[in-house]
Amino acid sequence: MNKRHFLKAGLGMAGLSLLDPLQSVESFAASPLVELPKLPYAFNALEPFIDARTMEIHYTRHHGAYVEKLNAELTKGSFQFGSTEELLVKYADKNLTIRNQGGGHWNHSLFWRCLTSPEKSRMSTEMAMHLITHFNSEEVFRAQFQEAALSWFGSGWVWLCKGSDGKLFITSTPNQDNPIMKLKGIHNGKPVLGLDVWEHSYYLQYQNKRVDYINAFFKVINWAEVERLINQP
Ligand code: MN
Repeated sequence: MNKRHFLKAGLGMAGLSLLDPLQSVESFAASPLVELPKLPYAFNALEPFIDARTMEIHYTRHHGAYVEKLNAELTKGSFQFGSTEELLVKYADKNLTIRNQGGGHWNHSLFWRCLTSPEKSRMSTEMAMHLITHFNSEEVFRAQFQEAALSWFGSGWVWLCKGSDGKLFITSTPNQDNPIMKLKGIHNGKPVLGLDVWEHSYYLQYQNKRVDYINAFFKVINWAEVERLINQP
């Protein structure tokens, strides 16, 4: 067989397998694929603090791409996991695609849930008490979180986490890493609030003024969700 015939035969075989409905169903069923979670509000719900266009691009294109690339990786190997969290805990240190795309998917899924329309962004007395207990005051918490977000160099995330000892702490991670991954240099804990400091999350509206974006973020935090996550065992 010469090279041309070989290529033709190869393409023919690939074409056939793609058209075989049984094989498609089987390979789909064998792959635990992840889905883009439904956004719990409209794209314009966070205005004027985060604009609809930023939300639409961030959610559909950026988060959408993480889901798509993660699924492409999941179809390639045999990964045993019951949740995206378990996938990251087990594979982030072994597989760079799972770490980056899986991290992107998990981080954004939390990020959307931790945001809400400005009129719903209210802190209960119990939530305020959590911050006072662990940071002395709401103001100290806010100043520390803002400082972490402002001083972070490059792409990454700033987190409020609950440690295994129950204490709340602030930490930052590069790229799409997060505190549930078992990686060197990561302060492990359960994220209860995350701020995306990648430029794609604010550049359209705020350009290089990250401080304005951080202040805007504080106007649309879903404190009820943060509190629920803190109180979860
Ligand atoms: Mn993002």
